[in-house]
Amino acid sequence: MKKTPFVLVFIAVFATTFFAINKFAPVFFASSTNPNQTREIAPTKSETATALTILSDATKNTDSSKEKLNPLSASSTNIAQKNTFDPIINISPEKIIQGDPIMISVKNATVAEIQKIYFDGKSLWFFNYQKTPTAFYGFDINQKPGQYVIELKMEDGREIDKKIEIVERPKIEKPLGIPEKLGGNTPEAATALVTNLSKENLLINNVWSVKKLFWQNKFQYPLANIVVTDPYGYSRDTVGYTITHKGADFRASVGTSVLAINGGIVRLAKQFEIYGNTIAIDHGFGIVSYYMHLSKLSVIEGQSVIRGQTIGLSGMTGYAESPHLHLSVKIDGVSIDPIEFLNFFK
Ligand SMILES: [Zn+2]
Repeated sequence: MKKTPFVLVFIAVFATTFFAINKFAPVFFASSTNPNQTREIAPTKSETATALTILSDATKNTDSSKEKLNPLSASSTNIAQKNTFDPIINISPEKIIQGDPIMISVKNATVAEIQKIYFDGKSLWFFNYQKTPTAFYGFDINQKPGQYVIELKMEDGREIDKKIEIVERPKIEKPLGIPEKLGGNTPEAATALVTNLSKENLLINNVWSVKKLFWQNKFQYPLANIVVTDPYGYSRDTVGYTITHKGADFRASVGTSVLAINGGIVRLAKQFEIYGNTIAIDHGFGIVSYYMHLSKLSVIEGQSVIRGQTIGLSGMTGYAESPHLHLSVKIDGVSIDPIEFLNFFK
């Protein structure tokens, strides 16, 4: 097929978002982060390298002199107790698989006391959520499973780290069905689909997030009645490409109110051929939600919205064989399982 190399260039150059198209290997998609989005937080290479070098496996208290000054064993016990007030890193969910969001909360510390939080050497944004320093990390569905380290660097020099295990996501495959309006189930239509997705992902991936929190309350579901029809993470094989579903589909007849999952700023309200009418909301600190296949857009780009506000009506525009709402949530440019994300806020 002569068109293939051209299409592959698209795929190789532009990491995709909701339907990741994967011809060669996951390596193209390992970092789908929009560089614009992370500019404010990304540590320099030397910064990261330094952090990795100086952080060890165990909690270190740089002020070990106190213990030496006190010869009494009873006081030594007190010192040991004092150490129990070291910051504690808590991680959700308990079992993490590829494509999951990771919630990192720090007990026994304030945001002001924390200098940096790293995941695998990458500096994360953090903020106060329910009076607890909190950071989110999106573990890409194509990122290698295995052991990773979360590192906490305190302003007073203390360094704490925690090892976590990421498990492989079971592969679920489904046949690809292309709606008649997009050419039906033909190799030509599949190639056109892949090409158009690459183009649309350019705009979708360009949605940015700012270092500001637009929400205080929990995230909520985007519909009043929730029935999941297609979960996150399955793949569809077509003419040599694999298209991964990077969001969750909810049952919604045409015209159902679609609600903002939290407060934020509308960054995108636009019509696409494959994604259909799409809205993207920046919730701040790297969290962006996307609502697709809408029949009506009720907001405009730049508008601020509140949690639960009707932003549009559901439909079946674009690549949709029946009416439904597609929801995607990105953390720092990585599309994660939105249901797992919403589970943090139950
Ligand atoms: Zn979907």
